[in-house]
Amino acid sequence: MSDTSGSILDAAIDAEPSTLAIRQAAFRAILSGIAIDEARVAEITGLDTALVGSTVDRLVAAGIATTDTGPAGERSIDGSEGLTVRASKHAISISGSDLHTWCAFDVVGIPAALGLDASGSTRCPTCGGAIELEVRKGEVVDSGAIGWWPSASGGPVIEAFCPSASIFCNSEHLDEWRTANQAEGTARTLVELAEAGRETWSSFRA
Ligand SMILES: [Zn+2]
Repeated sequence: MSDTSGSILDAAIDAEPSTLAIRQAAFRAILSGIAIDEARVAEITGLDTALVGSTVDRLVAAGIATTDTGPAGERSIDGSEGLTVRASKHAISISGSDLHTWCAFDVVGIPAALGLDASGSTRCPTCGGAIELEVRKGEVVDSGAIGWWPSASGGPVIEAFCPSASIFCNSEHLDEWRTANQAEGTARTLVELAEAGRETWSSFRA
């Protein structure tokens, strides 16, 4: 797999139509601001509950979904394809929902792929400063902040890719971090991150 094209999300899991339908149902629910029970996913997709359950197990293992278990043992999906109802240091306001994401790239890439307006924020790993991000009808407002695209290293996406898919105040702050961490990857402008987002979430356009 190239680390400069394609979708790291799609590459993490099989391309069965049932798998895609479950991923899309989960993503749409989170986008609307709610965690979704597996039973509801089965209703929406018309798929067998056992198949939904085993598929969600695989999505979690691949690092492209997270789940929460309720008091009666019922499981709900609370994070999907980078978008989450759990708190994180990356915030996004999109489609009327105030959500969080797994990495800074998601804040730009998701609205870019969906052609939506969004505003969000992340923190520069070097100085801890807040970085505001704006996307208008899928086009990112280029503030000069600079992103880091980690080299694909295998393993669950949420663990292997997300923690270092950061956005920095400027290239000086990126270079400082990159040197200190001996990180493997490439610098990308916000406009390049938006382009990468359109590929990454191409399966989730309405
Ligand atoms: Zn900084």
